[in-house]
Amino acid sequence: MQTTLKAGSASANITPPLGTRIPGGFRPRYAENVDDELFAKAVVIDNGTTRIAIVTCDLIAIPEKIADAAKARIAERCDIPAAHVMVNATHTHTAVAIADLLGVDEDPGYTEWVPLKIADAVELAVWRLKSARVGFASVDEERITFNRRWHMKNGTVRFNPGIENPDLVKPTGTIDPELAMMYVEATDDGMPISAVANFSLHYIGTDNGNALSADYFGHFDRLMRHYLGDTCISLLWNAASGQINNTDFSGRTKWTASGHQQAVKMANVLAGHFIVEKQLMEMHETLDLSGDLATLTFQRKEITAEDLKVAEQVLSVPQGTYDAYETGPFSWVVGEPIPQALVDVYAHECQRLAKLPAQMTAPVQVVRLGEAAIVALPGEVFVETGMNIKSKSDANPTFLVSLANGYIGYICTDKALIEEGGYETWAAKSSLPAVGTVPTMEALVDSLLN
Ligand SMILES: [Zn+2]
Repeated sequence: MQTTLKAGSASANITPPLGTRIPGGFRPRYAENVDDELFAKAVVIDNGTTRIAIVTCDLIAIPEKIADAAKARIAERCDIPAAHVMVNATHTHTAVAIADLLGVDEDPGYTEWVPLKIADAVELAVWRLKSARVGFASVDEERITFNRRWHMKNGTVRFNPGIENPDLVKPTGTIDPELAMMYVEATDDGMPISAVANFSLHYIGTDNGNALSADYFGHFDRLMRHYLGDTCISLLWNAASGQINNTDFSGRTKWTASGHQQAVKMANVLAGHFIVEKQLMEMHETLDLSGDLATLTFQRKEITAEDLKVAEQVLSVPQGTYDAYETGPFSWVVGEPIPQALVDVYAHECQRLAKLPAQMTAPVQVVRLGEAAIVALPGEVFVETGMNIKSKSDANPTFLVSLANGYIGYICTDKALIEEGGYETWAAKSSLPAVGTVPTMEALVDSLLN
């Protein structure tokens, strides 16, 4: 029997000590300052028979190891099964090294500690459960995001090709303007419990790459507190945004702000939409809840014996001096070659990938909240994939959440891998899946959704 809904929210500070390695570039940076604290933020919803926990972390990604450790502790201490827990990362590029990724090695002390804090956020939210109502909304905002992969005059596809580069032809694809929202408030006094937003925008960036920051995801939370009060814990989920950012390379939209100032502006655009929609939302006092996990099995990008030979040659000369190539130098490079300054990073990645199994797995999850659904995917999903999945879903709205429950890097479309190439497709721990993964993943999501 369904009873009145209950909900609670809480956050746990997951800021690491100074000196930690910051990932997100191709070389390590070291934290020398904190612009704003990093958090794991949780909202728990309970309908009397089923309990769902959602946790969003100010991290670049959530490897399965961290997600599973957090889920095990949440199961043990809060009795919520793994399928009912969705844990994701915002993709802030100014947080901690949670895995060996693109030239930046894991901080093992942190990755052992952070699952405890993720679980704490959920446990605290459970303690705060109270009668609540939940509403959903969705609007389009198409003025602030842009596709960063462009066709160039020489026939290649480049990511972040430079604003008004004279060699630009056209973007490889579209954007997804949907801002999907969930708002949770207490039934008795109407106090805000949580505001959850889902938008397709990779990240914005800050002023100092050596300062820890939650980027615009953190600004969104603070702005929502400013508008709705301190009881409101706000989560901003990164939707399918593998190639979607805030820079208009055509030059038509010119921003005057940069860094945190720009991040605050963009967070305010989303917060503004949220405040408007909150006034008009239909609020539900009962909600069917469910959560299902499935396993995506995919082929890792193949590293050939020849690739390993080249990798060895690259790494045998000083960094930035290997220039014995024009078109590769690795078998998996399509179109634009890897820049000379980065070829050693990808030589290392070749060696790492060759040690991984040829066939790998990752979790895919669907959480149902009444008419709404969350589709949680384990990596950086291209916008086309997200829109495909949403177009086949009967949920309203469908929250398409990337970087959730595990991390297999960019999950590139077959078209990008076979025809286009470019940064996102280059074999690395941050781009594991080979051709065929997206169709398999879409079919799996379809089976969970319908
Ligand atoms: Zn990314």
